[in-house]
Amino acid sequence: MTEFDILYFAPGLPSHGEKARAAFDDGALAVNGRRVEVALADIGVTLGGFNHDQLFLFWHQEEGRYAISPVDASAQAQLIAAAPPPLSGLLQGARKDVSRGRRRSRFGLGALGLVLLLPLLAIGLMVWKSHDIAGWIAGHISIEQEQKLGEIAFGQATAGMKLREGGMDADAIRDIGARLTRGSNYSYKWYVAEDPAINAFAVPGGYVVVNTGLIQAANSAEEVAGVLAHEVQHVERRHTLKNLVHSLGLRAALALAMGEIGSGMLGDTAARLSELKFSRDLESESDRLGLLALKQAGIAPQGMVSFFDKLRKQDGAAPPALLSTHPASAERMQALQAMINDIGPWPAQPLPYDWKVVKAAEK
Ligand SMILES: [Zn+2]
Repeated sequence: MTEFDILYFAPGLPSHGEKARAAFDDGALAVNGRRVEVALADIGVTLGGFNHDQLFLFWHQEEGRYAISPVDASAQAQLIAAAPPPLSGLLQGARKDVSRGRRRSRFGLGALGLVLLLPLLAIGLMVWKSHDIAGWIAGHISIEQEQKLGEIAFGQATAGMKLREGGMDADAIRDIGARLTRGSNYSYKWYVAEDPAINAFAVPGGYVVVNTGLIQAANSAEEVAGVLAHEVQHVERRHTLKNLVHSLGLRAALALAMGEIGSGMLGDTAARLSELKFSRDLESESDRLGLLALKQAGIAPQGMVSFFDKLRKQDGAAPPALLSTHPASAERMQALQAMINDIGPWPAQPLPYDWKVVKAAEK
């Protein structure tokens, strides 16, 4: 049994991980001598780190997401050499040392699928070195595939939520959303979720969910429009798709790139879509393009600033859910205002909604 040095990521541990030792013992992964109660087939492989060249094995348990990452090249070689199937096939593939890796994949691709997969894997790893394989794969998914995937992801992300498409608030959101997405490749669907948490999120393919908590926290239709304008950019620019692909791990992502779409492959990733964070760059891109969408729709931009500013200054034990995925730092607020000054001013018509009336209709 070979032990290798890793960084261990687990709920409750520092976000940069903790040094630990790991091994594969009797067909299971063990960390610090303790067996991880997760089947090897449920462990995903992904590349991450600053240059996207760091190998991660990850899995989910009740408490949340766990991952290990070898500390250096020699630990990585030890890990790859020690990994039993089904992990070994993928890991050896990642090293282009694949002569014996032709095991049936978890998605039933079989030997033929693997033969097709290997060149993709090799290309993928090359691309990954310089850019980001998730973005690369996301770029190779057609809109039709994305919509199919989105439908599955939407079902999983909203399981247990109380959704509706009717009512004064949902009608207003659909109308404002339509103004902001005129000419888009996506046919958007707008939902209101009966949930007091202040949150909204978008799913690949054009599903947007707005909580009643957000509707109640807004003082004007323009504030809601600001959030929607930002959220739809995560769809338009395929940020949520990239995020989803990235979280799936390399194996499922490549199956997806080959046109395989199944609900099983999404694991619990889609269920956590509303909690997935974007990088600061993507957030800032969504802010900028969101402002342009507001301009195009002739909607005043100040609602976007005032809403996030309001959330930021809100006192309370827990920050609003929207802020956990959209940190409204002073820098972001300043950047938003600078973007507005940069783009604007533009002629705007007040949105034809008395938001007090819309909110009162919910009660
Ligand atoms: Zn965002």
